[in-house]
Amino acid sequence: MVQTTSTRVGNDGTSASHKWVYLFREGNASMRDLLGGKGAGCAEMTRAGLPVPPGFTVTTEACNAYYSANEQVPAGLWDQVRTALADVEQATGKKFGDASNPLLVSVRSGSKFSMPGMMDTVLNLGLNDDTAQGLIRATGDDRFVYDAYRRFIQMFAKVVLELDASKFEHLLTVAKEQAGVQTDPELTADQLAHLVRQFLDLVHRESGHPFPTDPMEQLQLAVMAVFRSWNNDRAIVYRRREKISDALGTGVNVQTMVFGNAGDDSGTGVAFTRDPSTGEKKLFGEYLMNAQGEDVVAGIRTAAPIAALERDAPAVYHQFREIAERMERHYRDVQDLEFTIEHGKLFMLQTRSAKRSALAAVKIAVDMEREGVITRAEALQRVTPDQLGQLLLPRFDEAAKERATKEGRLLTKGLNASPGAATGLAVFTADEAAERGKNNEAVVLVRPETSQEDLHGMIGARGILTAVGGATSHAAVVARGFGIPCVAGASGIRVSEEDHAFYVDGKMVHQLDPISIDGATGEVFAGIIPTVEPDVSDPDLHTLLTWADEVKRLGVWANADYPADAQRARDFGAQGIGLCRTEHMFQQPERLPIVRQMILAASKEERQVALDQLLPVQRADFEGILKAMQGLPVVIRLIDPPLHEFLPNLEDLMVEVALMRERGGHAEELAGQEKLLEAVRSMHEINPMLGLRGCRLGLTFPEINVMQTRAILEAAVNLTRQGIDVHPKIMIPLVSHVNELKVVREQLEAVAREVEQEAGQSIDYKFGTMIELPRAALTAAQIAGVADFFSFGTNDLTQTTFGYSRDDAEANFLLRYVEEKILPVNPFQTLDREGVGQLIEMAVTNGRKTNPELEVGICGEHGGDPDSIEFCHQINLDYVSCSPFRVPVARLAAAQSALLSRTERDR
Ligand code: ADP
Ligand code: MG
Ligand code: MG
Repeated sequence: MVQTTSTRVGNDGTSASHKWVYLFREGNASMRDLLGGKGAGCAEMTRAGLPVPPGFTVTTEACNAYYSANEQVPAGLWDQVRTALADVEQATGKKFGDASNPLLVSVRSGSKFSMPGMMDTVLNLGLNDDTAQGLIRATGDDRFVYDAYRRFIQMFAKVVLELDASKFEHLLTVAKEQAGVQTDPELTADQLAHLVRQFLDLVHRESGHPFPTDPMEQLQLAVMAVFRSWNNDRAIVYRRREKISDALGTGVNVQTMVFGNAGDDSGTGVAFTRDPSTGEKKLFGEYLMNAQGEDVVAGIRTAAPIAALERDAPAVYHQFREIAERMERHYRDVQDLEFTIEHGKLFMLQTRSAKRSALAAVKIAVDMEREGVITRAEALQRVTPDQLGQLLLPRFDEAAKERATKEGRLLTKGLNASPGAATGLAVFTADEAAERGKNNEAVVLVRPETSQEDLHGMIGARGILTAVGGATSHAAVVARGFGIPCVAGASGIRVSEEDHAFYVDGKMVHQLDPISIDGATGEVFAGIIPTVEPDVSDPDLHTLLTWADEVKRLGVWANADYPADAQRARDFGAQGIGLCRTEHMFQQPERLPIVRQMILAASKEERQVALDQLLPVQRADFEGILKAMQGLPVVIRLIDPPLHEFLPNLEDLMVEVALMRERGGHAEELAGQEKLLEAVRSMHEINPMLGLRGCRLGLTFPEINVMQTRAILEAAVNLTRQGIDVHPKIMIPLVSHVNELKVVREQLEAVAREVEQEAGQSIDYKFGTMIELPRAALTAAQIAGVADFFSFGTNDLTQTTFGYSRDDAEANFLLRYVEEKILPVNPFQTLDREGVGQLIEMAVTNGRKTNPELEVGICGEHGGDPDSIEFCHQINLDYVSCSPFRVPVARLAAAQSALLSRTERDR
């Protein structure tokens, strides 16, 4: 590798006059694109008159030019580097490669966005046997020089020559063992000098070439290695995860070395201007005396808390604190600072905006607004909706999770179906979960899959784990709705209901064994992992969200099926209910038999008997919800799912009947079950998602809609009489043709007239529809003539626009599609603006033309997704509706969308 450099150096091109190199004093903070974050930071600190060791930056453009020229540096680069070096030599009074007073430099990567630890740094570059001797004469400290030399060889070998680092570590360990010491600083000059020889031999052996002794060659090799590090695996993986473009390139900073390892009056450290995990306004960090570079982070010796520096070196401490405060004010954000002390003199090596926890992000944003450092709008932009989302969920203690993984307690990974952390005793039946849940025992319900018959158990459990099922499986949907952590489709486990256990990887987890599931990552652990509870009453969070409400234009509503959910939604700041699904009300165990009776009724009369029993129950449900939301709008959707969802499973029933026949049991019972089987079979559909459901069901069995509408309106009457202000909105699902809505609306208006007449009062209600089929979106102008409001059901609309069945797509190919970039994102998580979004936008525009009063909103998961919320803001929807737990996230996202369009308008 060493040999090839000469051919790489100085290839010709036409860009020799292009400026590839900037001295620190030539740059500033606004040049992050060109200089990278570190380069721009050093430039800005230099400009501010801080003690920064002199240096220069090779631009990100040079890195990109290197790649486009097939790993050849652009012409003129090395000349410009030499010129810049001469400037640094002048400033320091030292000379690069000079044997009497050598200049040593560090070569540091730095791209626009900080990628901590993703790329490597080489320190002490410029050393060889001659310059080492010169440095010994200059410093009179041979121990320090050999320490710097051995570090240089070690780093250069690893980063530039890409040799195996562990072989060097091994030699170092052996040297310490032979010397009988524990730590690096205890090695003597002679021992280190010997190590240097060993390192040089090792390089020769491993690379086949002698270690490069010419400092300029060392520098050129190092610069190119930093260019190459932009595309190492770690960097690529990091960029994927953080959605950083591959096209940015990295800058390379060449900077005069200052030595934290020059003795006991020297040291190095890292500090934040505020505590990055709590946000507390207090210098936070660590330092080590007589150490260099990464020693602090490497944890070889225990670093001291930054406060202790006040005793160790009071003058330096006060100077540093003053600089830290100045940098924070200057950048108007919390800074993450690197410094080195050389013989009692402080040097600043890096400043950047600090990465922080979600909790700290909120506190820092609010504090800084109060301190007058940033505006309210900026405060709102300093916290990401995702951070807020994290903050509102219980989560596992990270360290404990790591420990559990190391101990081999990570059992398997499934789909991260509903976020949050849950621990509890494993139980295998819904009844058991419900029973123990009532007694306040923490249990995790483990099922092969779930159905409505498990609902009571799911509600009683702290978490849900299933072996099969996708992101819209029953378990996933219910869990998200209730905010219960859920890992679904953990195909690595086999649940045996008989054994009351599940099996994974040859291990067996018994009934009442403790387990922990992480719904955010899909991980399943054996044993209990401690959780950290979210604090929703946090006053800073409250303040931030109040500010968000002042700014946002979109209404934020919630999807809630039960009064308790509605109350929670209000507590989280929801301004209405955008979707109340009535079918869950049918699925409660005590009601299911009546619902079945209704479905299986042989005659209209028989059906009516069942419906008459359901009416008061539903009315009570609606009273509960309308009461919780008093004064606020509540959208109630009439029955939507295919009826078979309320009936026993066809296959189970067939088996049961077959067994009964064989055993020749009770004739009457058998006849009953046979009749049931007959009915279930007659209702069986090939593709229920596109079958008899939604308004089609209401058109086929109008009595159901009539009963539900009556229940809603009677509830409204009752509450109005109690002086409670209510605004029900009745929503008809799955309309594709305007005539469907016309017929249903007429039927239901007749009911409304009846109820109003009986009550002797008028009711403030509205009729509207879901837009969840492409045809409805396309003919929105007609539909809006019959509807008071539209609510976009974007889950079904995405399914029907793409022609995907979500569960099948997510289980079989969608994730691969996203990985292979066939689709940019999962359209069920982030609204597909080009396709589905276009339909929505068209429907809004055309609908409003027909009916200027038309109210439009979105319900479904997209309503809680920040990117989708931004789109909803842009196309002028009136509100978004999401799960109660996402309401704060949506409030912030809506505020950020409003701020974004404001700045775009001002531009
Ligand atoms: P990272 O991006 O991983 O933080 P850096 O380029 O900041 O990498 O360098 C790693 C370590 O080397 C830091 O601790 C830094 O303080 C130290 N370092 C870098 N340049 C110099 C220098 N010129 N003098 C002394 N220490 C340096
Ligand atoms: Mg650094
Ligand atoms: Mg739907």
